Amino acid sequence: MLREKLMSASDTNCAKGIYILHLTLASTTRVHVGRLGRIGFSAGYYAYVGRAFGPGGLFARLNHHRRRAASPHWHIDFLRPHGVLEKIWWGCTSPTCEHSWAQGLMKLRGASMPVRGFGSSDCRCESHLIRLARRPRRAAFRYHLRRLSADCSPTIRCLPIEGPPPP
Ligand SMILES: [Zn+2]
Repeated sequence: MLREKLMSASDTNCAKGIYILHLTLASTTRVHVGRLGRIGFSAGYYAYVGRAFGPGGLFARLNHHRRRAASPHWHIDFLRPHGVLEKIWWGCTSPTCEHSWAQGLMKLRGASMPVRGFGSSDCRCESHLIRLARRPRRAAFRYHLRRLSADCSPTIRCLPIEGPPPP
């Protein structure tokens, strides 16, 4: 089902790319996040940027995030079970674009990076987890992304995952 959705929605049978998980936390939660330790997350709307260029590409990775990981590997795996994964945005572009995507989210009004180093152990970004004041609009995100880097601004697809459909 997920594979069909991914493949039918793709431009050129793209199997690798960048994605954003849209996670809502209903209440303030303290979570142990691997080496980052125990962290308090306030209730609200979070967007996490990742890249899927390994074996299995986007399909394997998005499938991984869709479920609640039994043995957490990435920082987001620790936070994921505490929220509702409403949807995933994804696009076919190069691996280095994930940093531009994080910057693009930060351009949205009310955006912040509450946890330094979250998901960005292997890059120079402050964080790949962005807290948003409200649900972002894809058009607004793409507007900022295009201004940051046209090369990193492909068509962005949306895959609904859990809960009520986003407005
Ligand atoms: Zn980065």
